[in-house]
Amino acid sequence: MKGMVDVNRIFEAQKTFFGTDQTKSYEFRRKQLAKLREAIIEYQDEIERALYADLHKSSFEAYTTEVGFVLKSLSIAEKKLKKWMKTKRVRTPFYQLVTASYIQPEPYGNTLVIGPYNYPFQLVIEPLIGAIAAGNTAIIKPSEFTVETERVLKQMINETFPESYVHVVTGDQEVTSSLLDEPFDYIFFTGSTRVGQIIYRKASEHLTPVTLELGGKSPTIVDSSANLRVTARRIVFAKFINAGQTCIAPDYVYVHESVEKPLIEELKKAIEAFYKNEEDLAHIVNDRHFDRLRKLIDSDKVDYGNVCDPKTRRISPTIMTNVVWEDDVMKEEIFGPILPIMTFTKISDVIELLKTKEKPLALYVFSNDKSVTDACFNRLSFGGGAINDALMHVSNPNLPFGGVGMSGIGTYHGYHSFKTFSHMKSYVRKRVFIDPPIAYPPYGKNKERMIRKILK
Ligand code: NAD
Repeated sequence: MKGMVDVNRIFEAQKTFFGTDQTKSYEFRRKQLAKLREAIIEYQDEIERALYADLHKSSFEAYTTEVGFVLKSLSIAEKKLKKWMKTKRVRTPFYQLVTASYIQPEPYGNTLVIGPYNYPFQLVIEPLIGAIAAGNTAIIKPSEFTVETERVLKQMINETFPESYVHVVTGDQEVTSSLLDEPFDYIFFTGSTRVGQIIYRKASEHLTPVTLELGGKSPTIVDSSANLRVTARRIVFAKFINAGQTCIAPDYVYVHESVEKPLIEELKKAIEAFYKNEEDLAHIVNDRHFDRLRKLIDSDKVDYGNVCDPKTRRISPTIMTNVVWEDDVMKEEIFGPILPIMTFTKISDVIELLKTKEKPLALYVFSNDKSVTDACFNRLSFGGGAINDALMHVSNPNLPFGGVGMSGIGTYHGYHSFKTFSHMKSYVRKRVFIDPPIAYPPYGKNKERMIRKILK
């Protein structure tokens, strides 16, 4: 029960600190972003070592998808903060005489950031940048599965910031549960849809607004007009980075039956070219997930790979063919280095079928036929996606990143992170030298006639 008392104490300390208004000035926010940058640079080697220990992440992946990713976001926030913070004047309808209208971004207050295990550093620091830029305090709860990264995060953040401003709290779902008892002003959660629903339910008790960055099965469609070599290389990159433990990884491939065989050949060539060096492939986070993934592999349907080492929790890039929706591998988000392939004859059949599934976090279409890409992008709903690529929409900070339906609520990255962590307060400013009585009683027929002419 000790943990629970701590959580309440930290929350109360942050509430008191936010109440002093110190987090709101431009200078304060800018300074904290700079402190975060310095801390990340100081801890960079330790962070990369931790990611290797937890997920066997190569230093290349650790830098590009975690450390470098957030440093770039920090640069953008530092450069743009003043502009983002500005109160913006908007147009006012003419009948509201001598009135000016404004939108003033204000911090929500005390925020909570809960992270998953797959990009355990980036997925708590990236929202934290938004929380700080927007002038909030934050409690961060990283994943307990990636223990080394959790330890480094705790040390780095808790020695950089006072507990009353930004603080890392560690623990399992019991700790998260006690955190969720507190009346936070905003909750930013990244993780599974199942836990996202628990968070949403708990948040509703305090009517706390949320961002839910969730998962699901993201389809990849390959049409007969696609450039198969480039398609295969891009799919292999997106699927096997972090050993498939990526929320927007292609979950499965739907390929036109006429190009199934050549696509599979190109996929194998790409895997062999990319993963010559064993160190370049990440491992599975823990035994539970390793066993779960092994159970999803039907060895009768394995066309390639499936070399598994329980000691290191390495699963080699695996391709499954003749897959149907009734197979275990199609019943849940895979979140591992297993690529099921299914075929289609008519793109409209795939679209109709995907309409019956939950809206995915991402959708990718490889095709040189505009009617095919248009049909997929205009008729299907999904968080974000790419044409002739996969994954890369996540790395453009100008694109709001997030899901829709069961894959999530809300977006972030770049300005969208600032917006997510800000309440957009709107107000009008009036002058008092005239006071037209048009809206005041007594109304009378003439006033009403005039109003009916204006408001239509
Ligand atoms: P998870 O939902 O199991 O855990 C996420 C966090 O929630 C952890 O910090 C965990 O401690 C906490 N948690 C777990 N059970 C809880 C409970 N009952 N009550 C309260 N808190 C609880 O997710 P995970 O397995 O760490 O991550 C994988 C999932 O996250 C996948 O579904 C993936 O698609 C998704 N994901 C989404 C994004 C995105 O940006 N949309 C990014 C990464 C991962």
